[in-house]
Amino acid sequence: MTILVTGSDGLVGSALRELISENVYFATRKDADLTNYQETESLFNRIKPEKVIHLAALVGGIGGNLMHSGEYFRDNLQININTLEAARKTNVSKLVSFMSTCVFPNEGPYPLTPETLHLGQPHPSNFGYAYAKRMLEVQSRAYRAQWGLDYVVAIPTNIFGPRDNFNLIEGHVVPALIHKTYLAKKEKTNLTVWGSGKPLREFVFSKDVAKITLWMLNNYSDSEPLILTSGTETSIRDLVECVVREMDFSGEINFDKTKPDGQFRKPSSNEALLERLPNFSFTKLSDGVKETVEWFNGNYPSIRK
Ligand code: GDP
Repeated sequence: MTILVTGSDGLVGSALRELISENVYFATRKDADLTNYQETESLFNRIKPEKVIHLAALVGGIGGNLMHSGEYFRDNLQININTLEAARKTNVSKLVSFMSTCVFPNEGPYPLTPETLHLGQPHPSNFGYAYAKRMLEVQSRAYRAQWGLDYVVAIPTNIFGPRDNFNLIEGHVVPALIHKTYLAKKEKTNLTVWGSGKPLREFVFSKDVAKITLWMLNNYSDSEPLILTSGTETSIRDLVECVVREMDFSGEINFDKTKPDGQFRKPSSNEALLERLPNFSFTKLSDGVKETVEWFNGNYPSIRK
């Protein structure tokens, strides 16, 4: 039995590589351009997977979303349409794909639950990405309804970990802050954080997401997407404190309020997850940040940036 993992050189893919090594094919952009249907189907015909973990996506933090809304909409829609269709045509029995809590309605209601997914507009800072990703839920539901396919969707919160994209402008907040802190320390400058520091986010460590993904591949068959969160909100200010502590940075910290705060908060419900995995223990934010910082320090400058 072969499992195909798309987008396997990303954050969750690299965590999965540490968990499984047999009967799995880790695909990257070099194997196929998933925005192209012919290439996508050829990959599936070549690997003949029985199950698929579909991680490939064009993603970024608030900066990337603001700059590339057209590309994030177009490429993610194409990648998902092509991947699920190639899976259907080649008789893949199980597929796990990924959205994110940033695709939910901007106004809540909170805590976010899967039923509220389509009930309102996403935050304007990431509407291109959000609408494309919402269609993943629709496509999976429609394929289940018409063809009985067991294609399920995970909704993680803000994922971080080793091998993240540490781009200063387009990356997510944890890797961007680690990289900025590194540079501020090296150049003996202030650390400039975007926004007010007040927004709240739920962070989840990539290795936890990889573990739950494997569990979903073998045990989760519900048409309702599953939110992956510990249910703990952290302010950006508290995150900054955690990062500077782990990076041993003692310089000055500024909050640049001309930069976007994005959505103020997006607390999500972990009720469905805990019902199924009551004993799952999420990595503490400080432990995850520590491990990510250690990886960053051990691999700089050959990091994704
Ligand atoms: P989001 O969770 O989808 O909004 O994406 P991000 O991971 O990009 O987090 C954005 C939040 O972190 C916003 O409130 C930003 O103002 C704040 N933030 C602070 N500094 C940075 C930074 O250097 N990069 C990013 N991406 N966000 C930052």
